[in-house]
Amino acid sequence: MANLKKVKAEEETVEIEPGMNILKVNEKLALKNRELLRKHNVKAIDVMGSIGAGKTSLIEKLVQALKKKYRIAVFKGDLTTTIDAERIGRYGVEVVAINTGRECHLDANMVAKAVERINLEEVDLLFIENVGNLICPAEFPLGTEKRVVVVSVTEGPYMVVKHPYSFMDADVAVINKKDLASVMKVDTNKLCIDVKEIKPDMKIVVTNALNGEGVEELVDALEL
Ligand code: MG
Ligand code: ZN
Repeated sequence: MANLKKVKAEEETVEIEPGMNILKVNEKLALKNRELLRKHNVKAIDVMGSIGAGKTSLIEKLVQALKKKYRIAVFKGDLTTTIDAERIGRYGVEVVAINTGRECHLDANMVAKAVERINLEEVDLLFIENVGNLICPAEFPLGTEKRVVVVSVTEGPYMVVKHPYSFMDADVAVINKKDLASVMKVDTNKLCIDVKEIKPDMKIVVTNALNGEGVEELVDALEL
C-alpha cells in the first residue's frame, strides 16, 4: 500500500542510563512529543482498549466523519501485524504502522519515531491506535492532547471496574457494541456509572462502531 509506512520498535531504542526510571523517561519524551505536535497545530488522540474492543472500527468511522474537515494521519500500534493499518489506509489517510515486537503498549519514543515519518505541516489531526491492551498503556502517556479508552459490552460487566487506571488517565470513555448489550446481559448504564465513579467528569459515549451510531457524539466529546 502506497501510503503505509512502518516503524519497528526494536530498531528504535533509547539509551536509559542506570538509575533512570523508565516511566520518567517516557514522561519526558511525551512532553517533547506534545510540544512538537502543538507547534505544528496537530491534535493527537491516543485510543486505548483491549483487542477486539473496536478501536480500529471507531477510528475508521471517525476518519470517514472528519476527513473533509481535517487532514488526518493514523499511527497504528500492533505487536507484529499490519492488518488494522491496512484497514484504515483504505480511507486515503496517511498511516504509519508501529510494530512493537514484544511490547504490549506504545511508548512516547515509538511515537516520536513515527512522527518523523510524516510531514506535520500536512496533518491537522492524528489518531494513535494503541496496542490492544487495557492495562499498561495507561502508564505510558504518548504526548497526545486527549486519551480515549474504549471498552465493549462483549468484554463483560466488569471491564471498567477492573481497569481503573486506564479510565483515570482518559478524557473520553467509549462503551462500544451497544447493539450486543442485551445478548451479553450487560447494562451499559451500569458501565457508565462505573466510569463516573472512577472519574466523575469523564465524557462517556455509547456507540455501535459498525453502523456508526454514537460517532457524532464521540466527535463532539473529542471537541473536533
Ligand atoms: Mg485494532
Ligand atoms: Zn505493556
